[in-house]
Amino acid sequence: MSGKLIPNVISVANQKGGVGKTTTAINLGAALASTGKKVLIIDLDAQGNASTGLGVSQKSRQTSMYDVIVNEMLISEIIRDTDVSNLSIAPSTTDLSSADLQLANIDNRTIKLKNAIMKLGGEKLNWDYILIDCPPTLGLLTINAFAASKSVIVPLQAEFFALEGLSQLILTIRDVRESINNTIKIEGILLTMYDRRNNLSVQIEEDVRQNLGQLVYETVIPRNVRLSEAPSFSLPAMIYDHKCAGSIAYQKLAAEFLVRQKQKTT
Ligand code: ATP
Ligand code: MG
Repeated sequence: MSGKLIPNVISVANQKGGVGKTTTAINLGAALASTGKKVLIIDLDAQGNASTGLGVSQKSRQTSMYDVIVNEMLISEIIRDTDVSNLSIAPSTTDLSSADLQLANIDNRTIKLKNAIMKLGGEKLNWDYILIDCPPTLGLLTINAFAASKSVIVPLQAEFFALEGLSQLILTIRDVRESINNTIKIEGILLTMYDRRNNLSVQIEEDVRQNLGQLVYETVIPRNVRLSEAPSFSLPAMIYDHKCAGSIAYQKLAAEFLVRQKQKTT
């Protein structure tokens, strides 16, 4: 069912680099879109990987989330359709890397994105889910994402240092809850780049589940080369090869995510 009064805004965040944030935003977004949900991905990372991965070339980005955050442009002015039906993107550009500095002395600098999302007006009805692809820092952009979000999905790479930095992330979410957004919570923790044949992956999964319990999604995302190839074809893996193990895992994640959403509202 589409058309909620206020879309669910969910950040995909982990200050650790390369853990699968963008891959998760794109493929969870595409998997949700394939079930008929209307999804907007907000690319809040100056690297612009979500934008490129969804076919918005660097050259074609005249306007971006930089203009929204710094120049108060409307999100609706920068939204682009993708080749996936029901999936749109608000792209970023490299100048977003200077947003932290530019906003440093501005009032309300932590709620720029929240205000912009509120200004979506009647167009809010277009979206069931807004997924924010966060940069690999806990700087002002990520704080803006948290201020605007109902919840946070945290991808964790199934490797030795998986839990490193997680306490810092949880503390940051707690700080945000105590100051600018008292309803934010962790939506779920997602193990990514999992290798079932590798004892270390298995041990890490045990460790993460023991420490974080119910927060951890049952679904794990395997290491799968198709997931890393797809962006160079400007497509979600879900479309590039919908039968590969990575695509199947993200479809399973979307189903689990939707069940959890339902449980929360009933
Ligand atoms: P950054 O912190 O730089 O924004 P990120 O957390 O968004 O990174 P991704 O860009 O999604 O991480 O993934 C990092 C790299 O790993 C990319 O090259 C991506 O294609 C690849 N990758 C992500 N998930 C998987 C997977 N499950 N299997 C194989 N490769 C993957
Ligand atoms: Mg990324």
